[in-house]
Amino acid sequence: MTNRNLVIIGGGPAGLAAAKAAYDCGERDIIILEREPELGGILNQCIHNGFGLHTFKEELTGPEYAARYIEQVEQRGIEYRLNATVIDINKDKQVTYVSEKDGLVTIQAKAVILACGCRERPRGAINIAGMRGAGVFSAGTAQKLVNIQGYLPGKEVVILGSGDIGLIMARRMTFEGAKVKAVVELMPYSSGLNRNIVQCLNDFDIPLYFSHTVTQIQGKDRVTGVVVAQVNDKLQPIKETEQLIPCDTLLLSVGLLPENELAKNAEVQLSTTTGGAVVDENLMTSVEGIFQCGNVLHVHDLVDFVSAESENAGKCAVEYIRGGQICKDKLTINCTNGVRYCVPTVLNKDEVYASQSFKMRVANVFKKVELAVFADGVKVYGKKRPVVAPGEMENITLSADIMKVLKNAQSVEITLIKGDAK
Ligand SMILES: Cc1cc2nc3c(=O)[nH]c(=O)nc-3n(C[C@H](O)[C@H](O)[C@H](O)COP(=O)(O)OP(=O)(O)OC[C@H]3O[C@@H](n4cnc5c(N)ncnc54)[C@H](O)[C@@H]3O)c2cc1C
Repeated sequence: MTNRNLVIIGGGPAGLAAAKAAYDCGERDIIILEREPELGGILNQCIHNGFGLHTFKEELTGPEYAARYIEQVEQRGIEYRLNATVIDINKDKQVTYVSEKDGLVTIQAKAVILACGCRERPRGAINIAGMRGAGVFSAGTAQKLVNIQGYLPGKEVVILGSGDIGLIMARRMTFEGAKVKAVVELMPYSSGLNRNIVQCLNDFDIPLYFSHTVTQIQGKDRVTGVVVAQVNDKLQPIKETEQLIPCDTLLLSVGLLPENELAKNAEVQLSTTTGGAVVDENLMTSVEGIFQCGNVLHVHDLVDFVSAESENAGKCAVEYIRGGQICKDKLTINCTNGVRYCVPTVLNKDEVYASQSFKMRVANVFKKVELAVFADGVKVYGKKRPVVAPGEMENITLSADIMKVLKNAQSVEITLIKGDAK
């Protein structure tokens, strides 16, 4: 077994930013373990632009954004292993990976950062009836086929789910000569960014059907069509509204699942809402010395926020390695009245706080609301928002003074005031 101060699992934007920040805080004994043959994570297949507006004040493609961080990691001489899949980690921070070059290796780490990203929900998770012909892909798989391997997975396409990956693939398939017949969304709103609806659907006259779903996939050897139906307010399909859309391909963009199998092995407490870890303001999980950041923690809309959060995780991991205080007295933040979750989820009561930002998502589209924070039932912060939606991550920053109040409270709540669901 070898020893390392800091092991980072995942060489996507989260892992790269964490490594860079840890190095800049003075830590030199760092290794990044990445299972793919290249660093960069999911960004390598996102060849569209729209990345980096916050971080670099420029509109970059995914590979360009990744390249900037890869360059910074390489300039610093931070060590990384490619084709190295981590297969286990335990609560004592022993990380086991396997690679063709090194074989099976176990590293005893002082701190571990989990930056493993997400995977897509597959067809099996949503139980669509029908045949099992070829032509059903997750949107991310189709993106890899088109952008990296140079294959067009189909010519007449229906997309189920209006998250960002589905929206981006609607435009991408159109660019490549396919006809996207419809994007079908179960909910009465999109879970993707508004800018993607405008730029990827409206600009190409691709219809978006809210409150609809696919009830059946037809076609024995290859998909020949899908049956689409409107759903009622209990999200049940309305039989009389069923219509057949002939197509040869169905792309599924029906949610992302944080890659948390390793976290479970290490007995990290997971949130039932996000599927990511429950973390404190240092991004430390319930297991001392194991940190989490990026999409494995909660699904971010913009990679810039992934980088900022992960830099923080890198800094906090270094503080921990150097013997930073471990607080035992923690307070869980309650999210209520339309706020689905917030990160961080718990606060260390003994910590001396500077200002602190909280990321959160809401459960529905609400207009003219106030995002408010209460300590022991007293409002200590409010931020007016004309509209909030599940697809856009919300952010509030609380001053050091407010954080002092929260630290001394028995209960803290983040909530929406005067929210009217659309
Ligand atoms: C289709 C699509 C379009 C997007 N469009 C935009 C956009 O326009 N603008 C924007 O700002 N953001 C966009 N994003 C979001 C952005 O790409 C993500 O937020 C970001 O990539 C998340 O970074 P991450 O490092 O957490 O995860 P990832 O990029 O997924 O990286 C995780 C890495 O961990 C590795 N890994 C996982 N498990 C293991 C293991 N056991 N052992 C070793 N390595 C492991 C994976 O191989 C991967 O490289 C988009 C995302 C997608 C999927």
